[in-house]
Amino acid sequence: MSALFPTYKRKQIRLQKGNGTYVYDQNDKKYLDFTSGIAVTSLGHCHPDVVAALQKQSECIWHTSNLFEIHQQELLADTLVKHTHLDLAFFCNSGAEANEAAIKLAKKFTKKNKIITFNDSFHGRTFGSMSATGQQKIKEGYGPLLSTFIHLPWNDIEQLKKQADNDTAAIMMEVIQGEGGIKIADPDFYKAVQEICEKNDILLIIDEVQTGIGRTGKRYAYEHFELDPDIVTLAKGLGNGFPIGAMLGKSKLADMFGPGSHGTTFGGNPLACAVSQSVLDIIFHDEFLSEVERKGKNFKAQLENHLINFPCVKEIRGKGLLIGIECERAGELIVNLEDQGLLTVPAGEPVIRLLPPLNVTDEELTSALNTILALFNNKYEKVT
Ligand SMILES: *Cc1c(COP(=O)(O)O)cnc(C)c1O
Repeated sequence: MSALFPTYKRKQIRLQKGNGTYVYDQNDKKYLDFTSGIAVTSLGHCHPDVVAALQKQSECIWHTSNLFEIHQQELLADTLVKHTHLDLAFFCNSGAEANEAAIKLAKKFTKKNKIITFNDSFHGRTFGSMSATGQQKIKEGYGPLLSTFIHLPWNDIEQLKKQADNDTAAIMMEVIQGEGGIKIADPDFYKAVQEICEKNDILLIIDEVQTGIGRTGKRYAYEHFELDPDIVTLAKGLGNGFPIGAMLGKSKLADMFGPGSHGTTFGGNPLACAVSQSVLDIIFHDEFLSEVERKGKNFKAQLENHLINFPCVKEIRGKGLLIGIECERAGELIVNLEDQGLLTVPAGEPVIRLLPPLNVTDEELTSALNTILALFNNKYEKVT
């Protein structure tokens, strides 16, 4: 009997050691890790630079509280906003907390209640971020939820035009819906979101918790569609496994988050920020990011070429190294891949989500591709 709440349906695999893209279980079985702890360990396991940064800071000072100046926090904020139209950062410990900060800030700044989010979105499990989430299964049994949010169909410009008005504080969205099944909208939809926000003085909040920090081949996924968010939220890939989240925002919002208005004990402590800085020092370079883009494009094209002939495959979607294969019996295939030494993650119901570390090698991608193709060839009929 476990003394844990049974909140998770866990596999009977205990990963005990990790090195780059590889992990090893309790029987020393080796796997290619294309989960990255759900888009978290973007530089692979135990990256030497990140380990060094952690060790160095851990011998200096771990935690001081935000009662004091924190140099590492200042540096990290500068690095995060440098290539954006955003000016300021607030640090917390998770994606849900980053979204919580965004929701509070948007309401306080606009003095309005209504926030538009989308069906199938995922924004977290706290009360605010859960209320924002567009999936019923996440909210079951917790009502009544916040009245703030209305959920609209994804990629539907007409509905958005109808519902966005002068009483709307914000539109909050993922650029690519991650948990919802790697769903990308049409370019026109993003354009419409931007125009509608500008026309009605609505804040644009982009949840980059899964898509940010290089995952899609850009620092932030909104760059693909030339969006100009007022607020961006981050977590997952920001600390390579050390818990840290952040909210970035424009300077016009600064006065609404004055002393005493919001805060957290742990958020942005020296240890978390030093680790995160070492992650960004590697990822935030144009050469690194264009490699992510190249590898992702290539991998997706190969999957498409080889899987197109299987009628069970509906679509292959994604950007950079956030890729989903929508197919029949996805759950069963994920277990089969695991047996063959490749770890992947489900998304939505019928999607196999592939999230290799961003520094994955071409050889590792080829090896994963071969495992996937062998399984499809074994299991399904092709049409010719
Ligand atoms: C994972 C995720 C969250 C929640 O992050 P936590 O750190 O689990 O609170 C929020 N938004 C998106 C888009 C996510 O993928």
